[in-house]
Amino acid sequence: MKSIFDYKQSDLEEILVSWGAKKFNARQIFEWLYKKRVFNFADMSNLSHALQEKLAQEFSTELLTLKNVQRSELTNKYLFLLSDGNMIEAVLMRHDYGNSVCVSSQVGCNMGCSFCESGRLKKVRDLEAGEMVRQIIMIENDIADRIDSVVIMGIGEPFDNYDNVMNFIRIINNPYGLEIGARHITVSTSGIVPKIDLYADEDLQTNLAISLHAPNDELRSKIMKVNRAYNIAELIAAIKRYIAKTNRRVTIEYVMLNNVNDSIKEAVELANLLKGLNVYVNLIPYNETSHIAYKKSSKKNIDAFYDKLRELNINVTIRREFGGNIAAACGQLRANEVEK
Ligand code: SAH
Ligand code: SF4
Repeated sequence: MKSIFDYKQSDLEEILVSWGAKKFNARQIFEWLYKKRVFNFADMSNLSHALQEKLAQEFSTELLTLKNVQRSELTNKYLFLLSDGNMIEAVLMRHDYGNSVCVSSQVGCNMGCSFCESGRLKKVRDLEAGEMVRQIIMIENDIADRIDSVVIMGIGEPFDNYDNVMNFIRIINNPYGLEIGARHITVSTSGIVPKIDLYADEDLQTNLAISLHAPNDELRSKIMKVNRAYNIAELIAAIKRYIAKTNRRVTIEYVMLNNVNDSIKEAVELANLLKGLNVYVNLIPYNETSHIAYKKSSKKNIDAFYDKLRELNINVTIRREFGGNIAAACGQLRANEVEK
């Protein structure tokens, strides 16, 4: 049975009209689900009895099963069980400006980046839009508070599940849905160039982050297989087209791997690559995992890299580490659980 949470308002309207119901019933259903958190169709009192019954025949309102949660002061890391037995993760981060959630977009990932735990186990399947929506509902229920911002940076490559991710964005951004502001929604991609162009054409005010991680093709192809399909020149050209079309600043993610990509030489190369672009660089301290040999850069190397970028007039920040190893590398809880 399909989940009601998979549908954006316009899709639901179409289905309802095809049943002979009213278009505005879709908005009412959205308000029951996302505003009043009523998940039983029989309790949706402004819908006709016949419509309630039809909805119950056609759609499931089941949430996800909470399998495990690791709590710390600033982060909670959730492991969810899907209805087919697969597992995914989501991470809550509490900032002074609000609650942020990192959601997964696939079960595993096929991009195979050498440093990443999510990619170590191959992709099992894409997530449905509603499985992403329900990660947020589950966390809002757990903390009895609302989520203010969403980053699609958990397990999976969102642009390898493009249509479901776009539906997800429209559902959570909808004022009758979870009402999360577009400017508070960020998609992170390893660099699937044709999808960056599609994303630029969506009529959305959401954000884009690019996992660059290396300033030249030799190194990037070594650590990210996707670079063999879309190299750095093609990626930078796509970022330029995106900025020209949307007029939005792009985030460049750069994970700091000890003695791999963290020298001053690479900082200078990176600055040359990004010069004049409306981007800012986010340096991410690597989160070490027991299965992968990379080490995290020393604080000294990270600081020197940061200083060099600043000196070369690149906007740069260092990502705050949340509660040690609990946040960052999303995918580790699942990997451990799957391998048990
Ligand atoms: N597939 C997308 C989004 C999910 S990964 C992407 O690659 O952008 C989200 C971010 O976490 C990426 O920048 C990824 O490179 C980074 N990442 C993966 N493993 C990590 C680790 N162990 N420590 C720190 N960051 C990691
Ligand atoms: Fe997939 Fe992103 Fe991990 Fe690469 S870094 S394997 S694209 S989840």
